[in-house]
Amino acid sequence: MRIYNTLTRRQEEFIPYEKGVVRMYTCGPTVYHYAHIGNLRSYIMEDILEKTLIYDGYKVKRVMNITDVGHLSSDSDSGNDKMVESAKKNHKSVMEIAKFYTDAFFDDFKKLNIKKPEIIEPATNLIDDYIKFIKTLLDKGYAYFSGGNVYFDTSKLKDYYVLTNHKEDEMVVGVREGVENDPNKKNQADFALWFTKSKFEDQELKWDSPWGLGYPGWHIECSCISMKHLGEHLDIHCGGVDNIFPHHTNEIAQSEAYLGHKWCNYWVHCEHLNDKNGKMSKSKGGFLTVSLLEEKGYNPLAYRLMCLQSHYRKQLVFTFESLDNALTSYNKLKNKTLSLTNEGVLDKTEFDNYKNKFKECINDDMNTSSALTVLYDVLKDDKLNDKTKKELVKSFDEVLSLDLLKKDDKKIDKDLEKYVEEKIKERNIAKKNKDYTLADKIREELKEKNIELKDTREGTTWSKIA
Ligand code: AMP
Ligand code: ZN
Repeated sequence: MRIYNTLTRRQEEFIPYEKGVVRMYTCGPTVYHYAHIGNLRSYIMEDILEKTLIYDGYKVKRVMNITDVGHLSSDSDSGNDKMVESAKKNHKSVMEIAKFYTDAFFDDFKKLNIKKPEIIEPATNLIDDYIKFIKTLLDKGYAYFSGGNVYFDTSKLKDYYVLTNHKEDEMVVGVREGVENDPNKKNQADFALWFTKSKFEDQELKWDSPWGLGYPGWHIECSCISMKHLGEHLDIHCGGVDNIFPHHTNEIAQSEAYLGHKWCNYWVHCEHLNDKNGKMSKSKGGFLTVSLLEEKGYNPLAYRLMCLQSHYRKQLVFTFESLDNALTSYNKLKNKTLSLTNEGVLDKTEFDNYKNKFKECINDDMNTSSALTVLYDVLKDDKLNDKTKKELVKSFDEVLSLDLLKKDDKKIDKDLEKYVEEKIKERNIAKKNKDYTLADKIREELKEKNIELKDTREGTTWSKIA
């Protein structure tokens, strides 16, 4: 597979640290609110990445954190904790809020056919690991204690900006208004590893530590969770582009200082989903969720298709018009794939030929739109029999995950309803004509299809036989 690596700023051949095995880490959600469809664009891309690697024959070990502590509202090292703010607003405890939005997040995963990572670890699970990690950084001279907090000393690194090749002042992504100067820091770029003092005092979750009662900074969890489950060598780390700085930059700084060697080889970032006002963001509010799309009558998989139609490294602007188009394409596509029969014998040569073409596309830095073109080419190839087409669709859908061969239950129910109602009408006419043989025949016919009729004074009702 060739993949664009943010670290080297070019496409590279993917070679894992251990043959045949991929260690992959994904920055998980901050669970103080619903995930918006922008967040989910990143997770769809990561899902495609994981499924492509599996399709290529790798065993993928994938880990994701759930940020249920210490995510600050200004995204600098100061400001209010988003989790605490949300808990207060909803009159719930922080942990109740975390559970509620974590469940909602994975409901969205299900609706969008995103595979859950093998290991999911809430940040609050590993406080002891963070403390040990920070102690080591202090021992090695990469961290210092100041004003009640422990900070990472970025001046100790040869190149802190390794992921961005930019100086902080020039950063476009990640630098946000409201970044305040913290007088406790030696260097402006230093970041907190552990807080015991912040201007926001009423934290609900605090833990004992050698530096006093406090809580972790918001980068430490990803380094520690990743190392706990995936060891010292990580193959792929992914997230949205806004994670590049400061989050991933800080993750690299602290992890490599701790380990004393290179930590992760490939950094993969998904571009943003924008709305007409710019980047869709949780803190701005007024964003779109999967449930909202469903309420408006959209199949969530139409949104998945919309994401796959564009390249993950290009910004995507969301409009309802483009979603309407994606829905129309999705329905047309499914009509075609669902009408495929099992007729014919599998043509192995053509199967391999198309499968290779599809593989080439997804392995080319996840070119999902070209992969979709291969799918359309299969469907319109007159020389291919239905059996071969169906097998190819099944195979491609292991990566695309658009449920291309899955019948829509709701639609079946609608079709069934129509059919039974017609039969009841026919039977009523037969009864009126005193043709009881035909009436009984219709009843039997329906029974064979697991439909039971009941004649009541108000008319005939029906139910499915369980
Ligand atoms: P959060 O829950 O805000 O920490 O974000 C979860 C993931 O979504 C991170 O990988 C972010 O980089 C990513 N993300 C946030 N906003 C967007 C957006 N508008 N488009 C694509 N990805 C995003
Ligand atoms: Zn992270």
